[in-house]
Amino acid sequence: MTDQPTYGFDTLQVHAGARPDPATGARQVPIYQTTAYVFRDADHAAALFNLQEVGYIYSRLTNPTVAALQERMAALEGGAGAVCCSSGHAAQIMALFPLMGPGKNVVASTRLYGGTVTQFSQTIKRFGWSAKFVDFDDEEAVKAAIDDDTRAIFGEAIANPGGYIMDVRAIADIADAAGIPLIIDNTSATPYLCRPIEHGATLVVHSTTKFLTGNGTVTGGAIIDSGRFDWAASGKFPSLSEPEPAYHGLKFAETFGPLAFTFHGIAVGLRDLGMTMNPQAAHYTLMGIETLSLRMERHVANAEKVAAWLEQDGRIEGVTYAGLESSPYFGRVAKVCPKGAGALFTVAVKGGYDACIKLVDNLEIFSHVANLGDTRSLIIHSASTTHRQLTPEQQEAAGAGPGVVRISIGIEDADDLIADLDQALTKATA
Ligand SMILES: *Cc1c(COP(=O)(O)O)cnc(C)c1O
Repeated sequence: MTDQPTYGFDTLQVHAGARPDPATGARQVPIYQTTAYVFRDADHAAALFNLQEVGYIYSRLTNPTVAALQERMAALEGGAGAVCCSSGHAAQIMALFPLMGPGKNVVASTRLYGGTVTQFSQTIKRFGWSAKFVDFDDEEAVKAAIDDDTRAIFGEAIANPGGYIMDVRAIADIADAAGIPLIIDNTSATPYLCRPIEHGATLVVHSTTKFLTGNGTVTGGAIIDSGRFDWAASGKFPSLSEPEPAYHGLKFAETFGPLAFTFHGIAVGLRDLGMTMNPQAAHYTLMGIETLSLRMERHVANAEKVAAWLEQDGRIEGVTYAGLESSPYFGRVAKVCPKGAGALFTVAVKGGYDACIKLVDNLEIFSHVANLGDTRSLIIHSASTTHRQLTPEQQEAAGAGPGVVRISIGIEDADDLIADLDQALTKATA
């Protein structure tokens, strides 16, 4: 089945990118566990290496199992093409790599996954890149942060850990006016809850490790290109618009049009950075995505119940879930993610740091892990773990202060989750 815009999400999540195996008729996408592919003859090999023909050369670049997942991700996000890679963090580097260069910067939201704050505030400096962190609810501040060296704007649709919701359209309009791409990390929302390209995003990145795979088995990442950005318009993106010396002066934007970013991601990004997804990981993620909408519906229904119960409990100071009417982001749910505000939120516990640690230690169904988006309910004390490398100011800005825990609600019975939280809170606040 090829991309059919007429098919609904539930059909695409099962079928997009997957066709019966041409050699055997196998109905499930086979795991093509191979490193290399035999060329028909020397001319075929030369055409592949010159990017004159599309095909399989070597699994650092392309693999049929991974290609099926790429096609499915592009279909679910409504993009022109997608590249998969080894992790969500790899996807972020792969997304920025063609855009940035020494001295260039990315304007990023203050409300991001802790690992992304560290990657952007520390590690990318080694490439001569930098990030400017801004509160994305302050549109004037976003505009003011953009300068001649800005090459991208980066934010999360539903932000980890607090579950805050970004007004993607408002920030996309600012990016459009400045002639720079907007990159949305859609990990927490998934394309079932939010399709950032429909709100004006240029690129979407994912940690497929989370809800997409869904059961905590493999790490992976994806970059989906809307295919709508004109990379040649401003002269700011020479990797995509100017001749590429490693391909005999080929210009990606001119040659591949809406697929320029995707082809560059494979032919230069994966070829030279080597952050490749392996076919086993692609298989697990394809299997997970088949049930994405069913799981997300249950994740959201459970999160709504658990967050509402926590909010009225006397031992709790606050719950950040945007699906609660008390949330300042409640009004954005209908606009940005109408099927629900996700399953991720933070809870401030009376008793602060000590009570949080005791809560985490006394839960029985919830697992204390540095992950989210699993079928299982998960909890973590961000300030002592994922957000540990951040300054106290960065922790507070990210919604991960010492007195809060982050919860990722699974697909178990909501009543069992509430009972578990109830008994652990009793011990934590005794
Ligand atoms: C987990 C996560 C990442 C990083 O993904 P990995 O697969 O762990 O590298 C990036 N962004 C968000 C929102 C995440 O939750």
